[in-house]
Amino acid sequence: MTHIPMTHARLSRRSLLGGVLGVTAVTSFHGRQASASEALSSSGAKIFLTDNDLMDLEKSISGPVILPTSLIYDAARRLWNPAVDHHPAVIAQCQSLDDIQAAFQFARSHDILSAIRCGGHNYDGLGMADGGMTIDISGFRGVEVDEANKVAYVKGGSILRNLDEATIPLGVVTTAGVVSHTGVGGLATGIGQGRLARKFGYTIDNVRGVKVLTPDGRHLRADASQNSDLYWGVRGGGSNFGIVTEFEIQLYDFDPTVTSISYTYPISKAADVYKTLFELGEVVPNAMSLSGGVRTSGGGETTCSLGGNYAGPQAEAQKILDPYLKKLGDPLRTRMSEVDYLWLQGIADGDLLAKSATYYQSGFFNHVDEKIADEVADYATKNTFPGAQIQFGQQAGKTATVAPDATAYPHRDTKFQFTTDVHWADRREGPANRKFADDAAAVIRPMGSGGFYVNLAVGPSEADVREAYAGNYNRLVEVKNKYDPDNFMRLNVNIKPTV
Ligand SMILES: Cc1cc2nc3c(=O)[nH]c(=O)nc-3n(C[C@H](O)[C@H](O)[C@H](O)COP(=O)(O)OP(=O)(O)OC[C@H]3O[C@@H](n4cnc5c(N)ncnc54)[C@H](O)[C@@H]3O)c2cc1C
Repeated sequence: MTHIPMTHARLSRRSLLGGVLGVTAVTSFHGRQASASEALSSSGAKIFLTDNDLMDLEKSISGPVILPTSLIYDAARRLWNPAVDHHPAVIAQCQSLDDIQAAFQFARSHDILSAIRCGGHNYDGLGMADGGMTIDISGFRGVEVDEANKVAYVKGGSILRNLDEATIPLGVVTTAGVVSHTGVGGLATGIGQGRLARKFGYTIDNVRGVKVLTPDGRHLRADASQNSDLYWGVRGGGSNFGIVTEFEIQLYDFDPTVTSISYTYPISKAADVYKTLFELGEVVPNAMSLSGGVRTSGGGETTCSLGGNYAGPQAEAQKILDPYLKKLGDPLRTRMSEVDYLWLQGIADGDLLAKSATYYQSGFFNHVDEKIADEVADYATKNTFPGAQIQFGQQAGKTATVAPDATAYPHRDTKFQFTTDVHWADRREGPANRKFADDAAAVIRPMGSGGFYVNLAVGPSEADVREAYAGNYNRLVEVKNKYDPDNFMRLNVNIKPTV
């Protein structure tokens, strides 16, 4: 990571030149002209950070402190989703636990609207504070593996690749998401869906303990026997209670040779593909994880597909799937082969920072049937937006063996997750794409069992948040009241305190 510290010289010069704040006019957040030292408080009020404040911050951390005047400001504020264009007043790029503690203390003491940036992959841009302070913890990466006890100790700013690369070559693994540059910080405090979730549970199900910096400045260990309410809330409740500085994650013995599966059919088969997928959902072993649906390619070809992975040999996968896939007739394209799991975990990576803007809608289904398949197919075949998908991804297996109140994520009877995602490179195409996804969700979600994945949400209302957490919502409020009664941690899918 480039290290270009904010210079004291520049700050001093500004002070000499102006002597007062607000002299250095720069294009700031919301496109207005403002002082580099203007910021928003946690409640949205305008506040000012003096040069001395900023110098104190810079002195207290080893990583760079980046202001809107910095040459690297635009690179530092860029997130995975180019639909997000947030302009923080200050970005503190933390390299160590001490840095994170100092930056957090600074943010708290000045009551600045604050975001925690790990992988920067949140679709809603929750990792970058518009007008506030971003505590960028992505420099605080690393994984230590205790092979004997099958545990990975993962620093809170790590990305999934750090976790997979440290574990899989040793013959052990845990569930991680499907794109290797996604942050562990956001994913493992959300649900952590992934190729092995049906076999080993979601990532949150494998988090055995955490270390959390709470807004009152404490650095707490939380697990089943100490601070168990915090441990419960962090597994699904995002950054609502503080910054997770370390995840302790359960590992499993694992043969990394797995089977990757992909079948593509003409769009006329859409209803049959959904039906076959739903049928397979009832019979395939937990070692297999399938998804399918309709997609329009960048070139405008709309097809449907069924694919996934199997933690086992190709011959076994073939034996399970063949009787069902035969009914679908000849595919347009097919690919089934044994691959290395670490390679597979990078296959969907695409660009480190996406070139097209992305928007998601999702919903959970604890029941699927032929009628749902027909209605979804009817809607999905209207899909003509390049890159757009209407997918169903298999859940359940081990994830359904966890009680709904064991972690903050409650929807344990989910058999399939519905997702629709749209992508556009030209800003003017955003509204039509979003409308397609919203309309699809308005038709499809009501057929499901309620709730959606908080990590895919964009701008959820308070009612949406209640729906997402369902029966666990009130308990989350209690944990919030205890650990963050001022709602300092609010750039997340927010649980509002009541105290
Ligand atoms: C390309 C892509 C692929 C994805 N694949 C999957 C997948 O396979 N499975 C899946 O479950 N999800 C997946 N997601 C969704 C993903 O879980 C969310 O986007 C998640 O928010 C990303 O976390 P991040 O750390 O990268 O994001 P950031 O934008 O850095 O942070 C997102 C949120 O997490 C909080 N946060 C980050 N780090 C910490 C921490 N250490 N402690 C406390 N809070 C923290 C932040 O405060 C913020 O609210 C994917 C997203 C993308 C863009």
